[in-house]
Amino acid sequence: MKVLVTGGAGYIGSHACLELLEAGYEVVVIDSLVNSSVESLRRVERLTGKSLTFCKADIANRDTLTELFTNHKFVAVMHFAGLKAVGESVQQPLRYYQNNISGSLVLFEVMQKAGVKTLIFSSSATVYGAPESLPIKESAAVGTTNPYGSTKLFIEYMLKDLFVADDSWRIALLRYFNPVGAHVSGQIGEDPNGPPNNLMPYISQVAVGKLNKLNVYGTDYPTQDGTGVRDYIHVVDLVRGHIAALRVLSALEEGEVITANLGTGNGQSVLEMVEAFELASKKPVPYEVAPRREGDIAECWADSSYAADRLDWRAEYGVARMCEDAWRWQKNNPKGY
Ligand code: NAD
Ligand code: UDP
Repeated sequence: MKVLVTGGAGYIGSHACLELLEAGYEVVVIDSLVNSSVESLRRVERLTGKSLTFCKADIANRDTLTELFTNHKFVAVMHFAGLKAVGESVQQPLRYYQNNISGSLVLFEVMQKAGVKTLIFSSSATVYGAPESLPIKESAAVGTTNPYGSTKLFIEYMLKDLFVADDSWRIALLRYFNPVGAHVSGQIGEDPNGPPNNLMPYISQVAVGKLNKLNVYGTDYPTQDGTGVRDYIHVVDLVRGHIAALRVLSALEEGEVITANLGTGNGQSVLEMVEAFELASKKPVPYEVAPRREGDIAECWADSSYAADRLDWRAEYGVARMCEDAWRWQKNNPKGY
């Protein structure tokens, strides 16, 4: 059984490729390498002892995609390809709409033409905007605050509309909370370009001495210690949620759109994450209090009970393990790939 993984060379995609290969699937990756290195895939092959097929191309390249669907018989597509930096999306909205939305549109058209109608899409908790109540259920109101989030929400709408027109599609819209950590080998992990925007890679780079100190964006939120609270989820748990979704979609008797949160259901503050990382790495993580970051919300964590019921999936790893694995990756690869 062959799966096409778009964006498979990236942080989450490379972990998904590893998990797919280990679960016995064959894997074909399409990735433009705009935010990744093919080295991640070489390491996935070494770790699993299995090979995958790599195609360096943009998903907006219709001819290349069509050729892939002609040459391979896919049972499903896992669609990770996309640009993901919130701040950059505010500066370059058209690039984000072009890359994420137009690229996805071409992918869905080619899938439809090839008759491959099983799709798992990387959505995000960002589609909930500022949540009205916690934990966040899938039925909560949606609304975005930046172009990146809008691309995620719009792709969800495109897929729901597609299902209305053709109800043989089997689609999982997986709304990720905050993916962190790395594969236990320390061989693959998150490798941001330039100074990281996200908390965990920033903390890791401070611990390894690449950055001097962490800026804690706001200590005056109405939270337990005044810092922002998020639902951090181990990337390996996250990709296992995709395998679970693939199995459920494949066993469906008819088409469906499944929308599910992937989170742990627990919230951690910035200072709790700093402390957990110091404990795991045995390195100090100096920090300084900085003003709130524009657009940030105080708290966000998932109600993941639907994924538990529907996908028979639960996150297993806690924060200590997330930090240990992130640290192993950072320590072994201080310069990334
Ligand atoms: P990433 O940047 O590491 O991986 C994305 C991959 O897609 C990269 O390898 C990039 O080169 C590739 N890519 C981008 N545009 C492409 C295009 N047009 N054609 C072909 N390849 C393209 O990011 P990630 O953290 O692994 O995220 C994977 C997906 O999950 C993204 O869609 C992202 O929006 C979504 N997501 C990520 C997070 C997170 O915090 N990491 C949270 C929620 C959702
Ligand atoms: N954060 C921080 N310093 C940083 C990066 C992030 O204090 O250098 C805080 C941020 O304000 C938020 C939390 O860490 O409360 C998680 O931020 P991240 O960007 O990782 O995720 P998101 O805000 O997109 O959920």
